[in-house]
Amino acid sequence: MQHIISQLNEAQQAPVLQKDGPMIVIAGAGSGKTRVLTVRIANLMSQGVDAFNILSLTFTNKAAREMKKRIADIVGNNEAKNLWMGTFHSVFAKILRIEADKLGYPSNFSIYDTQDSLRLLGSIIKEMQLDRDIYKPKQVLGRISSYKNSLITVKAYFNNPDLQEADAMSKKPRMGEIYQQFVERCFKAGAMDFDDLLLKTNELLNRFPDVLAKYQDRFRYILVDEYQDTNHSQYLIVRALSDRFQNICVVGDDAQSIYAFRGANINNILNFQKDYENVVMYRLEQNYRSSRNIVEAANNVIDKNKTKLDKVVWTANDDGPKIKVHRSLTDGEEGRFVASTIFEQKMQNQLPNSSFAVLYRTNAQSRSIEDALRKRDIPYRIYGGLSFYQRKEIKDVLSYLRLVINPKDEEALIRVINYPARGIGNTTIEKLTVTANHYKRSIFEVMEHIDKIDLKLNSGTKTKLKDFVTMIKSFQVINENQDAFYLTELVAKKTGLVQELKKDGTPEGITRIENIEELLNGIKDFTEGQKEIDGARGALSEFLEDVALATDLDKDTGDDDRVALMTIHLAKGLEFQHVFIVGLEEDLFPSAMSMSTRSELEEERRLFYVALTRAEHQAYLTYAQSRYRWGKLVDSEPSRFIEEIDDKFLDHLNPIETSNYRYKPLMNIDVFGDIDKSKLRLAKPIASKPPAYLNTRANDKPNVRKLKPVSGIKTEGSNLFETKLAIGNVVMHERFGKGQIISIEGIGADKKAEIKFDVGGLKKLLLKFAKLDVI
Ligand code: ATP
Ligand code: MG
Repeated sequence: MQHIISQLNEAQQAPVLQKDGPMIVIAGAGSGKTRVLTVRIANLMSQGVDAFNILSLTFTNKAAREMKKRIADIVGNNEAKNLWMGTFHSVFAKILRIEADKLGYPSNFSIYDTQDSLRLLGSIIKEMQLDRDIYKPKQVLGRISSYKNSLITVKAYFNNPDLQEADAMSKKPRMGEIYQQFVERCFKAGAMDFDDLLLKTNELLNRFPDVLAKYQDRFRYILVDEYQDTNHSQYLIVRALSDRFQNICVVGDDAQSIYAFRGANINNILNFQKDYENVVMYRLEQNYRSSRNIVEAANNVIDKNKTKLDKVVWTANDDGPKIKVHRSLTDGEEGRFVASTIFEQKMQNQLPNSSFAVLYRTNAQSRSIEDALRKRDIPYRIYGGLSFYQRKEIKDVLSYLRLVINPKDEEALIRVINYPARGIGNTTIEKLTVTANHYKRSIFEVMEHIDKIDLKLNSGTKTKLKDFVTMIKSFQVINENQDAFYLTELVAKKTGLVQELKKDGTPEGITRIENIEELLNGIKDFTEGQKEIDGARGALSEFLEDVALATDLDKDTGDDDRVALMTIHLAKGLEFQHVFIVGLEEDLFPSAMSMSTRSELEEERRLFYVALTRAEHQAYLTYAQSRYRWGKLVDSEPSRFIEEIDDKFLDHLNPIETSNYRYKPLMNIDVFGDIDKSKLRLAKPIASKPPAYLNTRANDKPNVRKLKPVSGIKTEGSNLFETKLAIGNVVMHERFGKGQIISIEGIGADKKAEIKFDVGGLKKLLLKFAKLDVI
């Protein structure tokens, strides 16, 4: 043990060696806070403290597992396995199961996820005949959640005229009744939601002194990591449990507080000294994680925040490479930059996949990264979420598409037959299933012949079933004449999926719409790529096959060597040799929804600080000048966070002043028609004399824009597709805008031009279809 402790610096050793009493460690990222907790636990055990008497609370279960593994390395597996470690929710769910009967719950109570809660709230709102547009379930749930996290029970709510007035003012005078109904229904169903896990723990500890005493006695040593992100409910639990022995050690960094939007309370750090007697405060200043450039750049960033505790963070590590900044034209190109850089780094430095992480602000951004990694055969894992194509809203859309291709697909049918709600109830679905099995036919076929089969359904229900069949069949007809993008957009609208999501204005609802946007963007890429390359229509069935393979690839193979993809919120506490922070654009990061107040913006900046400080050796900041939204390119500006870093720490890979530079394409085209940017080299500055291939006519008179249609023009005799296009021509394309021809290949109907568009990058277009005008 002595040997392990001696590996810590003096400042780190102090909180390890202080065995008893309350203590708080406030320190910047990468300074060893988590390591101190780990060694502290091992040291307590080596001094004879029983693992059963130690409770360690972490922000994720993954963090708990890693910590436990490290402790096991020091004290042995047998000892370590008895430690109570995990998130607040997982640890207290366990305790609640043990004590459930005291609160009147069965020990096998269900834990409702957000979907369950929303569905329940939806039906309560309906039964109470309230206007769903005013009582939006997600907003109502958000309200209930904040009551619970502030320990405002239904009773407390009705005893508090201020709260009732606030709800009445926001046009929800019956909020209290809904809250009451919701709590009663959950209770009757033997269910707790996430917030209940904390609320009920508080109730348990408050109402039953013997239970409190039991757990106070049990958890003689309590440790909390990421203390800056605890909410009020969590804070009260920790306080109650540590009250007797006061052996409480919390570690945190105010600069990494990123969950205020969910009720995390930074005052928990600031008030710690007031809550306990003789609190010892420790500060750690040396960062061991990151190279100096990263540490200093991160300091640079966080300095811009006004609300913060004064802290010093320095490192004895090497300068390391500068932070690389990469600008791309589109999000697709950004994904390809990430994938090709990982590919090259792996090759050059023999690195495993697991030394790379791609961090983003919103889940929807993973799609373009996933696509690019898949094409390069780089294994990845999405943390904290399902793979893009497995997300609920995406699966809903895909289920309709699967039905269009194969109406016998019963999994798809069951999923969407009454989603969005169209009045086809469970009883009806059961009857259909039984009949289909009896006749050995699909449910869809039974529905097609619903008039000829006596299922004792009323005429209203029959009409609803027939309408559903007609809708799917109309999609089938459209699918025969239109491409996958057209059809999917139609499906998203006509089925009411998008409408359903638009109705609620909460961040989760918006995220789901964004995900569907992303799906549409992916399909657009796919159809355009297909169409322009070989004139194919961009068939839906091919797209679905692509997606199915993608899902297969995502299956857990037990192989952990994967690139990590996650939101920054999830990356807290983790570290990777190479970190890509993507989508650094105004309105995306910082998020458009978090720029109205200084405190919101400061939380975004802390989030950026968290992201940057995950990197050990190399950080990459990437942004796209345009991003697809609803199948349209939207221009974007680089994030202010890039500008806030002193330029001396940055290495701009492709600086914005490109007038003297040009890309020299060296490589092939991929399926979607864009060139792989990793194979592009920045050519030497062009001499004042234009290169020979440039169209001198266009250069001579730059202001005279003479549009000259050339597409499909018959120029000589039988050579139908021969056009006057030449390398170097500047052209206008209906969709991609202005671009310059880089190369031309093929003859006749197969003739293709490779064009670098100002927005949209390099595309290879089949001239037969491309509508080009020479400028
Ligand atoms: P964060 O704020 O991001 O959660 P942290 O303060 O918890 O960071 P740790 O994760 O504990 O920091 O440590 C960062 C890295 O530095 C880890 O890889 C850890 O093993 C290493 N480290 C910490 N202290 C030392 C030390 N004294 N000597 C060598 N390496 C150390
Ligand atoms: Mg940590």
